[in-house]
Amino acid sequence: MTGSPESIDQLVDLVKQQQAFLEMFVRSWVQEYRSNGGAVFCAKGCRNCCSLAVHTGFAEAVAVARFLDEEKEHAVAAYAVRLREQVQGVSELSDYLRRHRQEIGFCPFLDAAGACSAYPVRPLTCRSLISTRESIWCGIDFATLAPAERDAYISGLDRHVVAFPSHYVAVLQEAGQELEDAGAKRMRELLGFAIYGNLGVLVHLIRRHGLAEACLEGPAEAAGVSAAAGFDSPLLVTVS
Ligand code: SF4
Repeated sequence: MTGSPESIDQLVDLVKQQQAFLEMFVRSWVQEYRSNGGAVFCAKGCRNCCSLAVHTGFAEAVAVARFLDEEKEHAVAAYAVRLREQVQGVSELSDYLRRHRQEIGFCPFLDAAGACSAYPVRPLTCRSLISTRESIWCGIDFATLAPAERDAYISGLDRHVVAFPSHYVAVLQEAGQELEDAGAKRMRELLGFAIYGNLGVLVHLIRRHGLAEACLEGPAEAAGVSAAAGFDSPLLVTVS
């Protein structure tokens, strides 16, 4: 199956609707939780969760790629190349996630003031990560905590709402995941396959290596673009 450029526009339109829907859902959930005495700590300037590896579907990456200016494109390219080097020889997801946080650090879309420079088009996964603990907990490496600190953290969690043992709200993460799955399903309907991967890598491949054009030709061409640029690790990009 080959696609038309309009099919990519359709996928991006769907993603924008999904993001707007999730935004409303998150806002109303947080409002109700707070009105029942619950605490949510996400606020402007928080950025510790932006050192987690962000993975998205293809259309979300296209939306971000279309939004970028040239300066940010350079930062994204530098991030993607550093990440490519870091994952060489890595096959375990846990190893990849740990290296991302420790060696790569913050998302390339985070600006010097600690704000998201892609905020209007930030992915579903970023929108759905809502913290019930102070932001310092979003940047903690739990492997470094003493047992007593870990116990105190665990006992302070609101187990009715969090995706245990994390302190992020489960129902919102699930909603984001469902929307991502729906986006992938729509891509399969329109193009015959779906792509999922690291946000910065996908954006880099779209901006610098013609991934969107290759997607219109087929899955083998899309995978070929990724492999030719050195991003053929399934931890970074998967074509399914
Ligand atoms: S896209 Fe924006 S909100 Fe998401 S991790 Fe990057 S800087 Fe943070």
